[in-house]
Amino acid sequence: MRQAGCIVAEILQLLREKVAPGITTIELDRLAEAECTKRQALPAFKGYGGFPFTICASPNEKVVHGFADNVPLRDGDILSIDFGVIYRGFYGDAAITVPVGSIDPSRERLLRITEDSLGCGIAAAVSGGRVSDISNAVQSCVEAAGFSVVRDFVGHGIGRQLHESPQIPNFGLPGQGAKLKPGMTLAIEPMINAGCPDVKVMADGWTAVTLDGKPSAHFEHTVAITENGPEILTLL
Ligand code: MG
Repeated sequence: MRQAGCIVAEILQLLREKVAPGITTIELDRLAEAECTKRQALPAFKGYGGFPFTICASPNEKVVHGFADNVPLRDGDILSIDFGVIYRGFYGDAAITVPVGSIDPSRERLLRITEDSLGCGIAAAVSGGRVSDISNAVQSCVEAAGFSVVRDFVGHGIGRQLHESPQIPNFGLPGQGAKLKPGMTLAIEPMINAGCPDVKVMADGWTAVTLDGKPSAHFEHTVAITENGPEILTLL
């Protein structure tokens, strides 16, 4: 899983460097797939439940599971990229939200707080704790900053399958759910809205958008719980 995670991190870094006004998400999708092939990894999302792309590309008010398309990104957009691979039978899964060109300070703050909340969730992923300690840490960070946590999608266990138990909501009281133990591997992934927490799924059956049309951000890491604390597997 360290190797799978490293591949995810490398390819996300390449995608991050490519994001600029004028590029399309279908170009990013093709690049991600070619980079998987180079590394003898399989895209984890393509074909999953019928999902048609290698990356989930979700700009602006799109929350998660967006389809890559031919629309050029514009200066001031934000783009969430969720990406996973299968390598030698094991999964890695991570997400970043990237500014396109220069973005306004309120969007910058949304990105920063969402990434901070992922850090808070990871810090709570310690042996002896409970799953909802992670949830509560994310929620506290986000709501203290005046943003809202999406309820409709959650993090998850990950390993030989993309989605394993337990589910990891990004909200809730601490001290509940499964006990966290060394050897557990979790995908922690706050999805955070600038406005209200509500989302709806578009007619394509996949793309989730904010109900109020305000922007949303998404950061994710695959994390292992160890005797010595959480280890992020999807880092360079
Ligand atoms: Mg995930």
